[in-house]
Amino acid sequence: MQRKIRKKITVTGIVQGVGFRPFIYRVAGENGVSGWVSNTSGGVVIEAEASAAALEKFIAEITSAAPPQSRVDSVSTEDIVPQGLSGFEIRQSLSRAENSAIIPADLAVCGDCARELADPADRRYDYPFINCTNCGPRFTIVKTLPYDRASTTMSAFRLCPDCKAEFEDPSNRRFHAQPNACPVCGPGARLDGYAGPRPLAEAARLLAGGSIVAVKSLGGFQFACGALDNEAVGRLRAAKRRPFKPLAVMMADMETVRRYCAVSEEEERLLRSAPAPAVMLKKSVPGALPLAAPGLDTLGVMLPYTPLHRVLFSELAALGFNEPLVMTSANLRDEPIAISAESFAGGLSGIAAAVLDHNREIHNRCDDSVAFCSAGKTRLVRRARGWVPGGIKLPRGGPCVLGAGGQMKGAFCLTRGAEAFLSQHIGEMDEPESDNFYRESLAKLSALLGARPETAACDLHPDYAATRIAKSLGLKIAEVQHHFAHIASVLAEHGLEEPAIGIAFDGSGLGPDKTVWGGEILLTDGAKWERAGSLRSARLPGGDAAAVEIWRMGLSWLREVFGENWRDKAPQIFARMEPAPAETVEKMVLSGFNSPHTTSMGRLFDAVSFICGGPAVVTYEAQAAMEFEAAALARAEGGWRFDVYKEGGLWIMDPAPVIRAAAAGGLAAGSASRKFHSAVYRAALAAATGISAETGIKKISLSGGVFQNALLLKLFEEGFARAGFAVYSNLQAPSNDGGLALGQAWAALKTL
Ligand code: ZN
Ligand code: ZN
Ligand code: FE
Repeated sequence: MQRKIRKKITVTGIVQGVGFRPFIYRVAGENGVSGWVSNTSGGVVIEAEASAAALEKFIAEITSAAPPQSRVDSVSTEDIVPQGLSGFEIRQSLSRAENSAIIPADLAVCGDCARELADPADRRYDYPFINCTNCGPRFTIVKTLPYDRASTTMSAFRLCPDCKAEFEDPSNRRFHAQPNACPVCGPGARLDGYAGPRPLAEAARLLAGGSIVAVKSLGGFQFACGALDNEAVGRLRAAKRRPFKPLAVMMADMETVRRYCAVSEEEERLLRSAPAPAVMLKKSVPGALPLAAPGLDTLGVMLPYTPLHRVLFSELAALGFNEPLVMTSANLRDEPIAISAESFAGGLSGIAAAVLDHNREIHNRCDDSVAFCSAGKTRLVRRARGWVPGGIKLPRGGPCVLGAGGQMKGAFCLTRGAEAFLSQHIGEMDEPESDNFYRESLAKLSALLGARPETAACDLHPDYAATRIAKSLGLKIAEVQHHFAHIASVLAEHGLEEPAIGIAFDGSGLGPDKTVWGGEILLTDGAKWERAGSLRSARLPGGDAAAVEIWRMGLSWLREVFGENWRDKAPQIFARMEPAPAETVEKMVLSGFNSPHTTSMGRLFDAVSFICGGPAVVTYEAQAAMEFEAAALARAEGGWRFDVYKEGGLWIMDPAPVIRAAAAGGLAAGSASRKFHSAVYRAALAAATGISAETGIKKISLSGGVFQNALLLKLFEEGFARAGFAVYSNLQAPSNDGGLALGQAWAALKTL
């Protein structure tokens, strides 16, 4: 008989709440390994005893065959004394104080559950709450740690004997699947005003008939209606006061997605992934689904990520209805997403014909995430369901810090040790309800993580709601400039602690000089930074009003570049302005009244898109820039340029030649847009090359909302790499203000 050896094996990473222990149990059995496995605060610990060869194979399979939702970060082993016992068991958790355990994010329905859901012989056939250790609700139902059923909103449901047997059987896919449920013992759906046995079939009938239905999903309610139904989408847009903003759509399957969109392999993987976000896809037919995304060449598409959505689509198919559904957060404007049916009797009444509700309570409100693919990587537009509360590894640990976030796309960040936890997307912080949602989420996430911050890092802007909340908490305050926070979010993600050049292009953020920044090149070194370059400045007439009435920025740049003769130089553009307001705005530009200086790149996009014939007024943030990007059809074109020069110690990117060329007209919008994108990239490259020559730094970090522009991001990433720079950009946090909190927290942590 072969001599046996015994090893203690510690596995770290996302190894809890994802079926890891049953997996170890199974692999141990297959390899004739005896011993035990247990959860500890430091990860999963295994004691394994077998022949050297069997043990080697067992250890290799821990990584190579790990469950789909797990992530093995490290496997360490240590020889211990063999005990000569047989059998393998799953032991109770060694420690109950598992605050460092990772709470998994919500997971889209898995392949095994999807098969059972569609199998008439299965006891969970058409059951909208089917789940297993590889899928189902997690973050949205968890109240406290450790993550077991009693500490989730599933505690209201008692497991029936069949479900209990699965739950207790280590060889079963549902072993310790905390939200395990079936039609006998689990949650049920109901449709208000309907008493029959098939609420989902009735909801499908209403949808197919042109109604709007409110649907309770994982982290909140959604408004659903036929995406090709002019009348229904129109009513929804009117009710949400969203005349043009793109709405996400849900499509039954990949075949439907391909009918409307061009999908790369990478995008398909993202659509089918466990977080299952809305993925921004290029329309394959220009103008496809115009009601959902008017004026854009992209569409935010989701696959049915809960079993409830799947059953709804199969009921629709049974009615012969095979069209996409608009599936958008149930809220008004940018308010927090509704999580209780009462909302539809209150502020949201009169929009939906019926409410498809269920009795599994949502503890943590969480919107759908939005992402796109660029250069082989997933980029986040909105980080929420499927990502939260996943940790982002920091290069090193420190005291617990709160990053308060920004005014738009509110989200906060808590650090614990060498990890940062970004909260779910809260919404626009100027919505009155956002304040409550923010405070409530902060209390819940702090409790869940056992994170008690002593310092709050916030923006310099005194009027940001998040800054006010942070200052009301009685913590030490660390102010972090907006654009450095954007760049610091990249430094945090990539563990970049050495000097780097940061390019922060966005809409606006307060500079230390009290002007409105937004087209900045920074030199960063850990928590230290200085401004090394910027866009030439112009007046921002009326402040934030200029981001809506974007013709104002057009006028401001024309006046800046052409002087008092601007009307003669650009008569066809002047003709598209109302004369009286134009006169007022010109006076503001000249006097500086309520018109701060700005170096905003986002506002330059607005100005150029207006000058090139785009809209004078927009209805949602970055609308003009997105439509302008769409016109470029993902291509760049030479011909336009910025002047780039050094002045007062700063590298200035001066768009005067671009403004002159744009004002001369004569180009199709697509061509103008392609030339502008290319010119922005080349201006930044010229300035960064100058800074690099002075400093010897060859590392570039990119952040800020302007890099949500997929064309620009691609130009920068590819171009700077070609020019010999190492390029870093946001992968785990959004590059827009939704990622600010991460940078704030990291910047503060570095100084403590
Ligand atoms: Zn499953
Ligand atoms: Zn059951
Ligand atoms: Fe910003």
